[in-house]
Amino acid sequence: QHQRVRSAQLYEEAKQHIVGGVNSPSRSFKAVGGGAPVFMQRGEGAYFWDVDGNKYIDYLAAFGPIITGHAHPHVTKAIVQAATNGTLYGTATEHEIRLAEMLKKAIPSMDKVRFVNSGTEAVMTTIRVARAYTGRNKIIKFAGCYHGHSDLVLVAAGSGPSTLGIPDSAGVPASIASEVITVPFNDLDGLKQALERWGDEVAAVMVEPIVGNFGMVMPHEGYLEGLCKLSRMAGALVIYDEVICAFRFHYGSAQTFSAFPEQDAIRPDLTALGKIIGGGLPIGAYGGRAEVMEKVAPLGPAYQAGTMAGNPASVLAGIACLEVLQTPGVYEQMERQAIRLIDGLQNAADKNGVPITINRIAGAFSTHFCDHPVTNYDEAQDTDGEQFARFFRLMLDQGIYLAPSKYEAWFLTTAHTDADIDETIAAAQSAFAAI
Ligand code: PMP
Repeated sequence: QHQRVRSAQLYEEAKQHIVGGVNSPSRSFKAVGGGAPVFMQRGEGAYFWDVDGNKYIDYLAAFGPIITGHAHPHVTKAIVQAATNGTLYGTATEHEIRLAEMLKKAIPSMDKVRFVNSGTEAVMTTIRVARAYTGRNKIIKFAGCYHGHSDLVLVAAGSGPSTLGIPDSAGVPASIASEVITVPFNDLDGLKQALERWGDEVAAVMVEPIVGNFGMVMPHEGYLEGLCKLSRMAGALVIYDEVICAFRFHYGSAQTFSAFPEQDAIRPDLTALGKIIGGGLPIGAYGGRAEVMEKVAPLGPAYQAGTMAGNPASVLAGIACLEVLQTPGVYEQMERQAIRLIDGLQNAADKNGVPITINRIAGAFSTHFCDHPVTNYDEAQDTDGEQFARFFRLMLDQGIYLAPSKYEAWFLTTAHTDADIDETIAAAQSAFAAI
């Protein structure tokens, strides 16, 4: 059992200065029994160490970005190089072109790209661009999808907001919330009805094509094709929020994922990116069809800017991270380990009579404490949060770090070893037995 005395002290101190003691609510332990979150101090590969010296195998991967593990030498070298040459010029650099080229090559629907500083910004701007392009105001989103913390998308938001019981945030004016229409994921009829009713007012249909924010949820066969077709018929743009899923399952986006053979039929107009493409430094990006992107200033009338946007450190770290991900076999390795890990988890749960549904997509998966499939937000909400909280604590005390939310995924990284998987399965066996 880990002692976390220093974390507890720091939490008391942090609360005096930082609201809730954390700089992102998804880091708090409020949903897993409360108390002090763990204060980390150092990370290397698949591990990080807290301020009390405890070591953890990390399946959080910082909510996604750290796919090459902590302090990967190739990424670190790029960051050091960037720091040495000055971190910010407020001018154009060649590096930005190189990362944009890499993204375009991997995601063919992006003719033009713009870098920003977070997934939130990327999504927020795609909405503005879609509105500018269509001259319409409404957005359709899917219940339980999370698209960052801008006003419009904090309606029926999964991930952090749902974890804390505030899927519809306070502080979002009713007039803004009324521009958002929420429909269930994986239900073409629901989308069809919404488009029949509001179609000529809808600027865009915003979706996580592979959901990462109420568990990992694949679209049903033909769902994305149907979504794109219905949206087009209504004259609405399709925006893919791939902040979490791009470069997570394979080197590319949902649009080029082998699970979806009909690439052209699922091509979005705009895509929002973040997380992995910054190699662990702050970044976001959005891009899409040239004709749509040309609405953005300085070419067009839709304004978006950023002092830090495209900064050399984030861009060089992102390039280095993507270079590591181009190494043959890395995605296969993460997938193989995820398969072995979920086999072990499922066996341990079964042996102890704990109902569990595991949704795995390549090297990422979500564990739901329930006895039914999870294909939409309702089914995800229905999973047992208290049981998850107990499991989370039991794993934490054995040095296995999971996201403190029943909705978040476990992420494998290129740094996890077979021995890490074995250790995790052993910990899970004892956790399920205790539950
Ligand atoms: N979209 C999706 C799909 C996300 O998962 C997230 C973050 N979890 C965001 C947007 C927001 O990104 P950021 O936290 O970088 O603002």
